[in-house]
Amino acid sequence: MRLTSNLRGPGSRKREMLYNVVQSILVYGAPIWHGGTEQQRNRKMLIRVASAYRTVSTRALQVITGIIPIELIIEERQILYHREDGSTEAAKREERENTIQKWQDIWNQTEDVAQWTKQLIPQVDDWLKCRHRKTDYYLSQILTGHGSFTAYTNRIGKTDSDACRYCSGIDTTAHTLFECPRWQIERNRVNAVIGSDLSTENIVRFMLQDEKRLANNIHIH
Ligand SMILES: [Zn+2]
Repeated sequence: MRLTSNLRGPGSRKREMLYNVVQSILVYGAPIWHGGTEQQRNRKMLIRVASAYRTVSTRALQVITGIIPIELIIEERQILYHREDGSTEAAKREERENTIQKWQDIWNQTEDVAQWTKQLIPQVDDWLKCRHRKTDYYLSQILTGHGSFTAYTNRIGKTDSDACRYCSGIDTTAHTLFECPRWQIERNRVNAVIGSDLSTENIVRFMLQDEKRLANNIHIH
């Protein structure tokens, strides 16, 4: 398996914009989309936009990038097409809200993959509303758990062990962020900056709230 991290390349906003262009083309070509190749192309794009590892599930990628699942966009356009007032802003707004709700339902029902991402981002609409939402290589590793963590590299067969190299724990994303004694000093600094203990429930909020300040304090390598 090849691991491409997309470290280089255009900024994530630009990639998101490019992605939207491609998505429009896919939507307008909806009848041909249902074949496997288009789906694979769609997935590749999501991986690019998220700067994520190739093993991340499509469901997680969609939420992280904030890019609505293409099947829901297609459905939304069909509904608007059949509505008499389908071209009005009010109808578009209403159907977009319905679409986000459907997306949330899918996210809630996602049980086999993306469980870590789901813990960090339980509410799709909150995440979408976040002004500072962005994705880069490091944030993606944290949000997906796929990255420089031996629990992950062991799972995909890249390393023989899932043990943390600094302590007797298992090296998951949560272990590095919240538990490993190796990072206690850094963790204390972060906790001092945010005024509370970093946790699964609050980490995304804090990361987005004061990105620059936190970036200077968190070192995960
Ligand atoms: Zn450790």
